[in-house]
Amino acid sequence: MSSSANEQNCYFCRVSGGLADPFVFENRSFVGIFDTNPVNPGHALVIPRRHVVSIFDLNEQEQGDYFDALYGIRQVIETTRFADLYPGMMAREDLRDRPMDHIRRVMSLPFLDAGPDAYTIGNNDGREAGRSIDHLHVIVLPRYNGDVENPRGGIRNVIPDRANYQRR
Ligand SMILES: [Zn+2]
Repeated sequence: MSSSANEQNCYFCRVSGGLADPFVFENRSFVGIFDTNPVNPGHALVIPRRHVVSIFDLNEQEQGDYFDALYGIRQVIETTRFADLYPGMMAREDLRDRPMDHIRRVMSLPFLDAGPDAYTIGNNDGREAGRSIDHLHVIVLPRYNGDVENPRGGIRNVIPDRANYQRR
């Protein structure tokens, strides 16, 4: 398979090629990184090495390795001290010109190193679903007691007006 112009300009191809964020996990089909704009402590991404746009484009080997990657990144998340990770991230030369607001905000959270209570796992599979980079990246987002006022419905809240299914 030849490398298209699309792939040459693809940020997650740069990542999977070892040219951007350091891997914190890898297997034969996927790499895992910590997101540099975390919305919660330990926010991680699982990215196929191959330029795959949609989760439905994974081949059989990748489908099998996907769950290995989820288990692997969970273990990394649960054994990383975020009070050390994020200052190190802020000191990265390649991020010097990037805003650090998200990192500063998660570092100020009272549950920074409390360990996840739950997870939100998923990907935005298509532009209409919010995907901004057309190379599959599965979000593994640790969740913490009290990180939002009312977590009920979770991922349903991507459509806020119809998220609430609680009977009144
Ligand atoms: Zn790519």
